[in-house]
Amino acid sequence: MRVGAELLKAEGLVRRYAMRRGMFGRSVELRAVDGVSLTIERGRTLGLVGESGCGKSTTGRLVLGMETPDAGSVAFDGRPVPPPGTAAWRALRARMQMVFQDPLGALDRRLPIGVQVAEPLDIHGIGARSERAARVESLLLAVGLRADQGARYPHELSGGQRQRAVLARALATDPALLVCDEPISALDVSIQAQVMNLLVDLQERFGMGMLFVSHDLRAVRQVSHRVAVMYLGRIVEEGEPDAVLQDPAHPYARALVAAIPHPGRSGRRTVLQGDPPNPADRPSGCAFHPRCPVASARCTQDAPTLKRRPDGRMIACHVAQGDAAPGRGVLAEAA
Ligand code: SF4
Repeated sequence: MRVGAELLKAEGLVRRYAMRRGMFGRSVELRAVDGVSLTIERGRTLGLVGESGCGKSTTGRLVLGMETPDAGSVAFDGRPVPPPGTAAWRALRARMQMVFQDPLGALDRRLPIGVQVAEPLDIHGIGARSERAARVESLLLAVGLRADQGARYPHELSGGQRQRAVLARALATDPALLVCDEPISALDVSIQAQVMNLLVDLQERFGMGMLFVSHDLRAVRQVSHRVAVMYLGRIVEEGEPDAVLQDPAHPYARALVAAIPHPGRSGRRTVLQGDPPNPADRPSGCAFHPRCPVASARCTQDAPTLKRRPDGRMIACHVAQGDAAPGRGVLAEAA
């Protein structure tokens, strides 16, 4: 299949949860994902970034069909993803795999690594039993483990080796799509770069499309061909990584990028003021307006929609779109 061809298309995804305020309080609606549309291409990676709680992990689960959206649709290879739990969905799941944040939690401590890498082959009935040992060995080698490490238990491997084992298991069914949810954040900094390089290498060899969910902008820039920035359940900017992460247009994306510490950069660092608002108590208009450095009066009333600029970048902001004059700033300066 051609690199760059559409693999997965999600349109208008909405995911709500009911939340009770206090023990006897009334139930309120929390919109974790609020109208997200995205496309993942074959052999390409879409990076999804934002603060904790912005809805990026929920988006990953919706894309895989692990949760059912309250509205919107997901199509894989041009066909709607079947409802979770059905036989058709289980068959499709072999082609769509997930890599979780915590490799120790993702693995069964009671089983050797090789057995766990073989599990998806058993579940989906892939290959003859006699061929599976060779397949497991080739998967372990593909992710940089030795064949004899298949006999080890998870606690006998380092954190980086465990994440390699998780990747080997995810690749066992030869998936077309990999959803990686914060795949390096539980690893030592010294190991993170190795796993990132491995992901890039595996994509080049196997041609999967990837959704890379992370709060780490540098990691996202390293692996992604396109980047989407999420705030409170919505995508607020999307475009090429170099454009979005070097010259962000949306004030929230600008604040995220400005907050990255740079070795050697002296002086004060710009930080976002305040915590992200509670999704159950979404601010009126643009949800970012209580923290926005250039919010105008219009921003408190009128929610901006994601619009494409002539350069292909998508932005949801009245000021960046030229539809409102910048207002007063609220960014704090921090040492
Ligand atoms: Fe939102 Fe207005 Fe700030 Fe743009 S300028 S991010 S629309 S508050």
